[in-house]
Amino acid sequence: MGYTLTYPKSSYVGSGALKDSAQRLKSFGKKAFVISGKHVSKTEAFSELLRVLEMNQTEYVIFTGITGEPTLAMIEEATECYQKNQCDCLIGIGGGSVLDSVKAVSVMNSYGSDLTQFAGKEIIGPFPKMILIPTTAGTGSEATKFTIITDTEKNIKMLLKGDDLIPDMAIIDPDFTKTSPADITAYTGMDALTHAVEAFTSKKANDYTDLFALSAIKRIFRYLPIAFENGEHDEARLEMALAAYEAGICINNASVTLVHGMSRPIGALFHVPHGLSNAMLIHDCLSYAIDGCPEKFGKLGKVIGVAEDEMEDKKAAVFFIKALEELCRKLKIPTLEEYGIQKEAFDSQIEKMSADALASGSPGNTIRTISKEDMIKIYKGLW
Ligand SMILES: [Zn+2]
Repeated sequence: MGYTLTYPKSSYVGSGALKDSAQRLKSFGKKAFVISGKHVSKTEAFSELLRVLEMNQTEYVIFTGITGEPTLAMIEEATECYQKNQCDCLIGIGGGSVLDSVKAVSVMNSYGSDLTQFAGKEIIGPFPKMILIPTTAGTGSEATKFTIITDTEKNIKMLLKGDDLIPDMAIIDPDFTKTSPADITAYTGMDALTHAVEAFTSKKANDYTDLFALSAIKRIFRYLPIAFENGEHDEARLEMALAAYEAGICINNASVTLVHGMSRPIGALFHVPHGLSNAMLIHDCLSYAIDGCPEKFGKLGKVIGVAEDEMEDKKAAVFFIKALEELCRKLKIPTLEEYGIQKEAFDSQIEKMSADALASGSPGNTIRTISKEDMIKIYKGLW
């Protein structure tokens, strides 16, 4: 079967990327709607963005109402503000929640407030120009056609998608991620790793996504512990920014699988940050998936250097899983219990979480066939 490869129309990468993009940025609109988090809006990166807009004589309106992972209510408020101010392009500067919000506001601006109608469907534009500037290295939202919005009525995280939601421009300056604290660096970095490994072992993987996935995985195993220990480390921050972007391109084209499918319900019901719930699940989910393609998991062990080239695939795959465990330990990833979740509360939701995970479609991309019962077992095994 053939495949296409999609990624942002233009990307500026490296220290000083925002300034380098200024000329092109100017052509995107006359009045920008700038979405940012409260914390990021006080950083130097944010001031630099405003300076570029002012230099370009682009008017702007600032919105900092995305407080945590975006909900429908937050997106409605932002869209009203966008429309009331008659803005004509969107800039997101922040973590994954902020970047995802930009895409959701675009959709709501074009189609009205009922976003639930799009769950599982391809959303088609036209949309206003979208410029995304990540300040964490993780979700890869700056490169993807996805946005995740929480429906607080149904307690689910909706996955919205469409090629037209791929940003018009991604501006990736690793210096902007230096303000990301150690725990956020760890969680978002683990999200990027999950994207890359899931895409590499997805039923939809292809030669190109494999290329990006392997590159991202190598970078993350080497540099995430360094960025976690020392947030000011230039090389580690650059490598992680690149890895997150590469992993984003992977999931655009090969999708995520079991880990993300099972992670979203934990996030929706127990308010565990997205990257962290992935990290809590990754070991058990991938251990389950190995039998679907031991060659690919074995390759991962070899690529990150924990297994010899001649080693038999299944054995090399086990070494990869052990290396994952070791990485989580280095990054101080807590268990559900250590995070403060009550076992009884969790147990009472396992049925719903397994059903929601299956309905999201992501587990179906896993290389080994997985049923609701299998997921119930994995959820129970987390304790
Ligand atoms: Zn993710």
